[in-house]
Amino acid sequence: MFNTPHLLDQLVSLTGIRDLELLEVSLLKTLNGFIQPIGLSLCKVSNRGEMRSQLVFGPERCSVLREHFVVHPGLLQAFRQHQSGDRSNFQLPLGDSMLSAMPVMDSRAAATYLVIHCSETPQAADSRMIEGMLQIYRNFCQLLQESQTDSLTGLANRKTFDECFSRVYELQPFGDDGCQVPVDKRRAQPATTFWIAMIDIDHFKSVNDRFGHLYGDEVLILLAHLLKNALRNDDLVFRFGGEEFVLMIRCESRDEAAGLLERLRRTVAAQDIPQVGQVTISIGATEMVRNTFAGTLLDYADKALYYSKQNGRNRLTFFEDMESLGLATREVAPSENLDFF
Ligand code: GH3
Ligand code: MG
Ligand code: MG
Repeated sequence: MFNTPHLLDQLVSLTGIRDLELLEVSLLKTLNGFIQPIGLSLCKVSNRGEMRSQLVFGPERCSVLREHFVVHPGLLQAFRQHQSGDRSNFQLPLGDSMLSAMPVMDSRAAATYLVIHCSETPQAADSRMIEGMLQIYRNFCQLLQESQTDSLTGLANRKTFDECFSRVYELQPFGDDGCQVPVDKRRAQPATTFWIAMIDIDHFKSVNDRFGHLYGDEVLILLAHLLKNALRNDDLVFRFGGEEFVLMIRCESRDEAAGLLERLRRTVAAQDIPQVGQVTISIGATEMVRNTFAGTLLDYADKALYYSKQNGRNRLTFFEDMESLGLATREVAPSENLDFF
């Protein structure tokens, strides 16, 4: 069943990838080279047993389906049984051929299954080989996830910001299963703007000084938790380092962004933290204007944050308000500024 000569080459290319979505595509490509099946796909199933997305292997390109899934109802049933603890019944005859499914990943919100459509039942040795490939894939995903996550708070780290930033315009961010929705779906929805908010804990050094570093760490964990809970699934939270957090939020208007960030500021200030008492945050925000570098937008948000700090802390400032008051100016767009030669 297996075409093994390119095994090592495929593994080298699989483990060279630094993007979790590309990694899924590469996994299918690698398995396709080995198994040469009739069909191959990765199905994401929510913890309520509903299909959320399907990555279908195609020789030219893989397609992501968000509806009209090509999954046998018997397999859907097997996914549901698997999620409720029954680990059997993962092979289904289909005419002269055979459908098999193998669990790939399990997360809190969704499980991923590999579905193989083959002309024959996989031999035990073939199944072991596929399982071995899946294990390499799982290990590698875990390493990748760890490298993209801040170990104290579990939030995305600074490194992942740039990648998310460039994707945000192409894709509607995450649904409740962590899957993304393609741009053509987004066009049907009301106009959307994205906002960057930079958050810094006020007088955090004094928390460390008064209660010790361990209590300081607890405050950071609690704040990460509050941010995650107060935001919607669509919104992204990063720990940029120290006691600085960055949000990327999707809102239909500036008023909506202000309402959300103000609510967040008040929620943090109202929290009674054991031993420590009350901490507050200062926020600087700006709209993510297209064709502006991530670094420039972060700089605008940082200026607004600095203004919040200079003007009493525990407050929210928009860079756009500073502009209107003549307190800040925008950089000239690079296309107007640079001579290319
Ligand atoms: P401001 O209101 O101006 O932001 O004052 P601040 O005291 O929060 O600002 P400053 O930048 O002076 O202090 C930040 C402190 O954050 C200093 C550093 O010890 C602490 N810090 C940075 N990373 C961590 C961490 O991972 N854990 C803990 N416990 N403290 C940290
Ligand atoms: Mg601070
Ligand atoms: Mg700071």
